[in-house]
Amino acid sequence: SPILLWFRRDLRLSDHPALTAAVKTGRSIVPVFLRDGLLDDLGAAPKWRLGLGVGCLAEALQDKGSRLILRSGDALEQLTQLIDETGAGAVYWMRAYDPQSVERDTKVKETLKEQGVEARSFAGHLMFEPWTVETKQGGFYKVYTPFWNAVKTRDVAEPLAAPGEIKAPGRWPDSETLDDWRLGAAMDRGADVVRPFVQLGEQAAQARLGAFMASKVADYNDARDIPGTDGTSCLSENLSLGEITPQQCWHAGLRAREEGKPGAETFLKELVWREFAYHLMWHTPRLLTDNWREDWEAFPWNEDERKAEVKAWKQGRTGIQFVDAGLREMYVTGRMHNRARMIVASYLTKHLMCHWKIGMQWFEDCLIDWDPASNAMGWQWSAGSGPDATPYFRVFNPVTQLDRFDKDRAYVQRWLGKPGAKLTGDAARYFDAIPKSWNMEPDDHYPEPVVNADEGRKRALEAYENRDF
Ligand code: FAD
Repeated sequence: SPILLWFRRDLRLSDHPALTAAVKTGRSIVPVFLRDGLLDDLGAAPKWRLGLGVGCLAEALQDKGSRLILRSGDALEQLTQLIDETGAGAVYWMRAYDPQSVERDTKVKETLKEQGVEARSFAGHLMFEPWTVETKQGGFYKVYTPFWNAVKTRDVAEPLAAPGEIKAPGRWPDSETLDDWRLGAAMDRGADVVRPFVQLGEQAAQARLGAFMASKVADYNDARDIPGTDGTSCLSENLSLGEITPQQCWHAGLRAREEGKPGAETFLKELVWREFAYHLMWHTPRLLTDNWREDWEAFPWNEDERKAEVKAWKQGRTGIQFVDAGLREMYVTGRMHNRARMIVASYLTKHLMCHWKIGMQWFEDCLIDWDPASNAMGWQWSAGSGPDATPYFRVFNPVTQLDRFDKDRAYVQRWLGKPGAKLTGDAARYFDAIPKSWNMEPDDHYPEPVVNADEGRKRALEAYENRDF
């Protein structure tokens, strides 16, 4: 009987343990992608980007003589229906770690097993299963450096090759179409704005990794912190959808380290930050929803999204150059440089004293590399409410940060334009992208700061000093 291969955020054919195991059985395979409630709940850009990735996977499967069957509805109901239609005796999938997916997958596994259907989940989205990394006392890690020390010398499985052939079933079940799903419907800035910045699919991801190792990793230690240069791998977009695996990146990083390339070790450490985020989310799912440090519940966060300064922040119009450049970059490209992510997050949570959840959700709506664990950890780290966080009193100064990380102003001028000059390139692209719902007159006027850097800092520190926790 056939095996249903349930694809989720693992949109690739190589280094795919579930697919490799299914092919090894010699049985026919029915690849499936389901549009369920969790997918419908995604933010605009991640949902649209996922749709592109699913389309690309479908093409890759066709090249192997296979197909991708699309169905919408409750995952368990759809799988059960497909089992009825195809006579499948097994369902294989790659494991997910966020609490909602875990709840869904546990129910699916238990029910299928009760029905006598083989249900198997495989590891691979992470290098280190979160429950396998334990402190000496048997707990989980709350601080990055000891986590890194615990995993850095572990063996990471060599990546698997893509299967040569994927055996088709005698008869294919019906499939819905991606066009009907309209996964880009919520992209009110227009998908065309962001599309040029996307590097889609497994082959593009491998090319990205190759280019990074060939020319960028050597300078990565310095260049990675300068948003005006193209100094990082940009692989987060592909890692987030499983178009490439951390194992593939890890082994490439190990090779670069053996070749003596200076930035390779730092790159490996960054991959482990991603693992650490999943480790935290798995052991404490409240990372996604509540202040990780419970005493922070008492902090006087502004939670009112309608406030003018929150709007100005989202729209990249706070009047603080580094902050606005970052937010405009994200709106136009679906990504934001890590340095800018830290600065915009610090400004929102400290200068504007807004709840980190507001920022986290805006990122979730805008990022094509959105990742539940890294996003939540990044926000709680920036706000000071997370484990291993930057202390609240460490307020990034968005003005002096410019002198350190954007000395030649390449980054802010790319996104805000040159003073006094007509807007061109990406700075103009942002104005073209402004949706009607923002009710804004497109102009090239640059606003005064909504909250001045020094005043904001003072206000935040006072609130922190007077906190009753
Ligand atoms: P590189 O510098 O090339 O690093 C290689 C890989 O290491 C990345 O692709 C990523 O998988 C991992 N990595 C690097 N830095 C981090 C980090 N700080 N935390 C976790 N993993 C890391 N990353 C996301 O992938 N999705 C998010 O939604 C996300 N939201 C963030 C929100 C905030 C407020 C902050 C401060 C950071 C966030 N990050 C997020 C982490 C980081 O900014 C991005 O992973 C990084 O900018 C991606 O660019 P890159 O692929 O070129 O990274």
